[in-house]
Amino acid sequence: MEFSIPPSLAPTLEALRRLVKEELFPLEPLARESGFAAVEPRLQELRARCRERGLWLPQIPKAHGGMGLSVLEHGLVSEVLGRSPLGHYTLNCQAPDAGNMELLLEFGTEAQRERWLRPLLAGEIRSCFGMTEPEHAGSNPVWLGTRAVRDGDHWVIDGHKWFTSSADGAALCIVMAVTEPDAAPHERASMVLVPTDAEGFTLVRNIPVMGEAGDGWMSHAEVRLEGVRVPAENLLGASGRGFALAQARLGPGRIHHCMRWIGLCERAFDLMAQRALERRLSPEQRLGDTQTVQHWIAESRAEIDATRLLVLHAAWRIDEVGVKAAREDISLIKFHAASVLQRVVDRAIQCHGALGITEDTVLSWIYRHERGARIYDGPDEVHKTVVARRILRRYAEAASKGGRA
Ligand SMILES: Cc1cc2nc3c(=O)[nH]c(=O)nc-3n(C[C@H](O)[C@H](O)[C@H](O)COP(=O)(O)OP(=O)(O)OC[C@H]3O[C@@H](n4cnc5c(N)ncnc54)[C@H](O)[C@@H]3O)c2cc1C
Repeated sequence: MEFSIPPSLAPTLEALRRLVKEELFPLEPLARESGFAAVEPRLQELRARCRERGLWLPQIPKAHGGMGLSVLEHGLVSEVLGRSPLGHYTLNCQAPDAGNMELLLEFGTEAQRERWLRPLLAGEIRSCFGMTEPEHAGSNPVWLGTRAVRDGDHWVIDGHKWFTSSADGAALCIVMAVTEPDAAPHERASMVLVPTDAEGFTLVRNIPVMGEAGDGWMSHAEVRLEGVRVPAENLLGASGRGFALAQARLGPGRIHHCMRWIGLCERAFDLMAQRALERRLSPEQRLGDTQTVQHWIAESRAEIDATRLLVLHAAWRIDEVGVKAAREDISLIKFHAASVLQRVVDRAIQCHGALGITEDTVLSWIYRHERGARIYDGPDEVHKTVVARRILRRYAEAASKGGRA
């Protein structure tokens, strides 16, 4: 393995481990019972404290008030924060804001940065990203119904979005809309900065996910845009560059997600191991004495450790060779880590018996909310196709030259 973990990061990781265990774990039951709004005031206090200590915006360069970590380093931070569903929010590196900040930082004009990026970095506002539409297959993102039509100095937007995560309470929505209908499929759409208080922007509902609609940052909305007018300068990047911008944003974002899932796996693993030791099947026999549970523990350990190395390797590749050259690594980790998360959490629930499907542990929350991991950021099947196509192309090229890949 070519990468190494920078020793200088150790104190930060230790401070975050303590934060997550001592401050966030105890807040989780209230968040599960009463929603995000119930824990938001306490989270704001913790955010202020973290910011003072320099534990803020790990993904953002120091010049913009962040910690300036590499993708690999931020992956390690994500793993620790990921142990709690509240972790990333506390350091202001939560999806979808983290990706939106990166977009504004890289492609925003001075005026766009001042209006939107500055308050996002300060944690004063939140944002959302509206691409997926109920009427079109999200796994084919070039097929969009939302249109932005130029009218003098404005764009006029009409469209229907859903699964716009965290739209509830967000000030800004980055809307993916077709602005160049006659261009090639990948050059038709643009990103448009839409204030959520613009006339014609309606949050229809927070969509119940596995029975839970959520609120605030912890929700996924259906949104309608009806004749929404925004100034021409609200385009992010050039017209028709929406997919190019989205591609640039996805690589580091996938590392953060995958390492967050590793954190969730570790949390589930801890609970499974503790339960295996504590729960007795009889006065003489612990649950962990059964071979089945021992196998769950061993298989989970192997899967988590292997996936962690795979994800860190992909992060290191992004740092070394860039997102484009690491595309195959990024697709590999996305579907693999999501499936490991699902298996580990499922075993942990099974190990807890009926308790596993109650709200008395965090397991059912993880199970409900992270089933989507195999769907969002590109469904598993799409990533597998990307990987397999590239591998087969290499074999075909080698075969045409009379050799082996
Ligand atoms: C929790 C969550 C949060 C989300 N947040 C956001 C957000 O903030 N903003 C946003 O814009 N979107 C968001 N999404 C939407 C997400 O990006 C889409 O759900 C995803 O792109 C899949 O699109 P779809 O749901 O329309 O499924 P479809 O495209 O209809 O696909 C359905 C299924 O078909 C299969 N499939 C698709 N393509 C292929 C293929 N080529 N080969 C084989 N099988 C295939 C897959 O199994 C897939 O799950 C979120 C989704 C979830 C679950």
